[in-house]
Amino acid sequence: MSEQNLVVLGATGSIGLSTLDVVSRNEEQYRVFALVAGQNAEKMAELCSRHRPKYAVMSSEQAAQQLSQHLTGTTTEVLHGVEAMAEMARHVDVDIVMSAIVGAAGLLPTLAAVEAGKKVLLANKESLVMSGQLFMDKVKAHGATLLPIDSEHNAIYQCLPTTIQTGQSSNLSHSGVSKILLTGSGGPFLQRSLASLASVTVEEAVAHPNWSMGRKISVDSATMMNKGLEFIEAKWLFNCSADDIEVVIHPQSMIHSMVQYRDGSVLAQMGQPDMRTPIAYGLAYPERIDAGVEPLDFSQIVDFTFTKPDFNRYPNLKLAIDACRSGQAATTTVNAANEIAVAAFLEGKIGFCDIYRVNALTLEQSTLSVLKSVESIMETDRTARHRAQQIIATLR
Ligand code: NAD
Ligand code: MG
Repeated sequence: MSEQNLVVLGATGSIGLSTLDVVSRNEEQYRVFALVAGQNAEKMAELCSRHRPKYAVMSSEQAAQQLSQHLTGTTTEVLHGVEAMAEMARHVDVDIVMSAIVGAAGLLPTLAAVEAGKKVLLANKESLVMSGQLFMDKVKAHGATLLPIDSEHNAIYQCLPTTIQTGQSSNLSHSGVSKILLTGSGGPFLQRSLASLASVTVEEAVAHPNWSMGRKISVDSATMMNKGLEFIEAKWLFNCSADDIEVVIHPQSMIHSMVQYRDGSVLAQMGQPDMRTPIAYGLAYPERIDAGVEPLDFSQIVDFTFTKPDFNRYPNLKLAIDACRSGQAATTTVNAANEIAVAAFLEGKIGFCDIYRVNALTLEQSTLSVLKSVESIMETDRTARHRAQQIIATLR
């Protein structure tokens, strides 16, 4: 196959760097066309000198100016702003777009890639949580290829029948699927006493036992809001209802999720907790390429356990599942509130258990209407952020 041009949205982050690592191992197949990031001009400069993209886009003009200084004398053109990010994602020369910006900021560039019918590798779960129906409608209307990168959804995708994978069928039960089993480790506080959760520090919350990730998703894993967002993500990706999905706690993170069939079979995808596996799968689908990941060594596995999640320990998980049943306005609202609450927690402004308070109160105080356009989704997102900020001010 000829070389494919790749855009990495969120290039300086955990998923972005893992993507570039896989690309480096398969240089004859992928060429880095554009790199996109937020503010870290220094890291971006390093990546540009290594991968020599045609374009590099930063979120602000200031960061773009810093990057330009680092890149004088190179052929990389430096741009900034959301429109430039979207332009890269929809560029005619681009084949594959890795969507790995964190949070709602990823929505517009990801939708641009979908609308241009690209092969979209989706790590940015927040965009699907915000715009599920509209997003999936656009995938269909524009003939985009959507491959889930979130490890659980990638695992589920791998365990589904080819007719579903290739879009020939979109009905799970007609294909014999009876349940999607979404696994999660339970995060760093699975065993911690409930009474001591209020005093959790930022360092404790971002120290995930199995995965190394960005700070926002690490906190989401500790509250299990991450599993809640993934629950909503699964509903949209696999065209199923909340009743078709079950969350299973599996602390070892070796099974990345499972699919149960009508005849009693359960298919699981397993591997090291290393995002380079789902990234390599998405890049090469339906082929397989080297990801640099060590094989599982079964002689070293001591424990392999499963339990049910306790909603007293993880109230954010329950909140997100309820929002999933309620609809799009609720999921957009809870996602926005959570981004604000997690940022406030990371800045030391609120406590760990306040994250749930902010999320629940924001939802409670919001009027939920039907969201049909990107504009109404963005408006709901803005309103919820504003409300969450006000609630945080009253908590302090
Ligand atoms: P991260 O914090 O390490 O990286 C985030 C990236 O987004 C950085 O490159 C940053 O510069 C960029 N960014 C932030 N704001 C931006 C803006 N306004 N415009 C453009 N770029 C911006 O996060 P991560 O852990 O790599 O996660 C990225 C996404 O992937 C998240 O949606 C997360 O939920 C999802 N995800 C991550 C993992 C993981 O293992 N890290 C696993 C599954 C899903
Ligand atoms: Mg995940």
